[in-house]
Amino acid sequence: MNGEALDKEMVITIDKNHTHMHNVARELMQSIVHQHVTDSLLMKYQKAQQEFIHNLDQYKEHLFSWRNLHDALTGLPLRHLLYREFPLVRAQCQRMNHHLYLLIIDIDHFKSINDTWGHNAGDDVLRNVALALKEATRKAERIYRFGGEEFIILLDAKNDRDAQTAAQRIQQYLQQHSFLVGDDKITVTATGGLAKVLETDTLHQTIGRADKAMYYGKNTGRNRCIMAMTDSEMLTIS
Ligand code: GH3
Ligand code: MG
Ligand code: MG
Repeated sequence: MNGEALDKEMVITIDKNHTHMHNVARELMQSIVHQHVTDSLLMKYQKAQQEFIHNLDQYKEHLFSWRNLHDALTGLPLRHLLYREFPLVRAQCQRMNHHLYLLIIDIDHFKSINDTWGHNAGDDVLRNVALALKEATRKAERIYRFGGEEFIILLDAKNDRDAQTAAQRIQQYLQQHSFLVGDDKITVTATGGLAKVLETDTLHQTIGRADKAMYYGKNTGRNRCIMAMTDSEMLTIS
């Protein structure tokens, strides 16, 4: 069950048990007023109250754990959750006979955005980039905030060509959309590094290749997407 579904289920349970507790409390009050209160009714109320409090405690724990795994600025899942979810996404992909690809997106010259418009504007840009990445990807594709201005997207695709098309679309989407920061319109570009998750790969190894591709893109002019075909063979997609 994903975080959203669990959240919804917990809220429904809290609401149900809250109503139940009040109904039993009303029943108990009536019995007190009419002086025929029973032990079993007192126990019934105590049980309902304990269940409600237990539900609230569970929800509090769930919220704390959600906050630890998600970025407060963009709302995106963080690196830790990528490591936790990766085996599940990989297995899901295998079941569908698809391949899994990992795309690193790093904003170009982001430091100069901070230096020119200030750190708050930089934060606004990061929030907008996260939204743009969501718009540019399919709902099932997970986007993580991997580091400061670096994002990782897990793409499932039938073959290299489809993965390259998706990566190119995501990388180019950013450049085509400007963000309003104060009165200024800011356009950002990003460099993408794509790598296929090989059967023998650990997540760490795939990230290593995608990172190499991304740095190759930075060194050859930025605002482009590169795929690491092997550890050393780089293919410029766009
Ligand atoms: P390159 O094109 O080579 O990637 O250059 P760059 O300037 O994007 O990369 P660099 O690593 O030099 O700078 C990244 C900057 O991102 C520096 C850091 O202060 C900024 N940054 C990281 N996290 C945040 C954040 O949460 N908010 C803001 N406003 N800035 C951040
Ligand atoms: Mg970076
Ligand atoms: Mg950067």
